Amino acid sequence: MRATLMFGAGDVRVEDVPDARLVEPTDALVAVNRAAICGSDLWPYKNMEPAESGRPVGHEAIGVVEAVGAEVRTIKAGDFVAMPFAYSDGTCDFCQDGLYTSCVHGGYFGTFEGGGGQAEAVRIPYADGTLCLLPGDPDEALVPSLVTLTDVMGTGHHAARGARVRPGSTVAVVGDGAVGLCGVIAARRLGAEQIIVLGRNPARLALAKEFGATGTVAERGDAAVDRVKEITGGHGAHSVLECVGLEDSLLTAIEIARPGGAVGRVGVPQDDAIPGSMSAFHKNVSVGGGVAPVRGYFDVLLPDVLEGRIQPGRVFDLSVGLDGVPDGYRAMNERTAIKVLVKP
Ligand SMILES: [Zn+2]
Repeated sequence: MRATLMFGAGDVRVEDVPDARLVEPTDALVAVNRAAICGSDLWPYKNMEPAESGRPVGHEAIGVVEAVGAEVRTIKAGDFVAMPFAYSDGTCDFCQDGLYTSCVHGGYFGTFEGGGGQAEAVRIPYADGTLCLLPGDPDEALVPSLVTLTDVMGTGHHAARGARVRPGSTVAVVGDGAVGLCGVIAARRLGAEQIIVLGRNPARLALAKEFGATGTVAERGDAAVDRVKEITGGHGAHSVLECVGLEDSLLTAIEIARPGGAVGRVGVPQDDAIPGSMSAFHKNVSVGGGVAPVRGYFDVLLPDVLEGRIQPGRVFDLSVGLDGVPDGYRAMNERTAIKVLVKP
């Protein structure tokens, strides 16, 4: 089969690899209908050391089940399913708590162990616990939004939960990438009254406004902090969604949170330390969030997608075939595309 492999920074190739297949009796095999390139794929795309054997990439996909192992009970061949970016057994203590990303048997797609979704097919470990059933034969217009449930929309929702967004909240979203934009949808969906997006890409900010943002801030650093305070009555935002992962963006997120407020961070951190400790301490600002257990948010978000109340699929502004995946990475890395949809 054809699959995308990353060999090092800037080096993504689509190659012939051995067919994905069932290995364990709890596996399913899924033929990929749509996959996506994620902002988090750009970190290895910028930094990965050159490797002789390519790493399978892609952790967002939907598709049709081709086969299941002997112990799979709830998923069958022909089902239309979504694959969250992490696999999980669905039964351990953490899965029962809804924290699927901490599953004791879990792991991530887009790795040597998990296989990659930017491919013609992917092996799904713990199919019963991992896969989410989608309605068969959905309206084609809904398909991009269904793909976002495998990562960015669930991650935006997790940021909003970590930031404790409530009806009437004042919310700030740091980052205008796909997750930040989905964070706007999530904040609006949870009843936020004011939603301010920190970013500077005009096309992305325009989409943020269509998703419900009430204001935008292009400044950075101290100037951004001053500006957010100015438009939130002097104190900052109740809830801040940190959707970038850089030291500066997390520091800004903590600085723009009002006393007693909360930051939900979902940007993959690029540093070990959390900045802004003194500020967070003196303001009693909680820093929550983390890797998003999106498997647990399907039941919450899917009805809104199917009934058209939210349209997170609008974050996709470029679609490529499998052979176009390297171009898709380039486009996202150069920020000429917000997010790329892949149709194998
Ligand atoms: Zn588990």
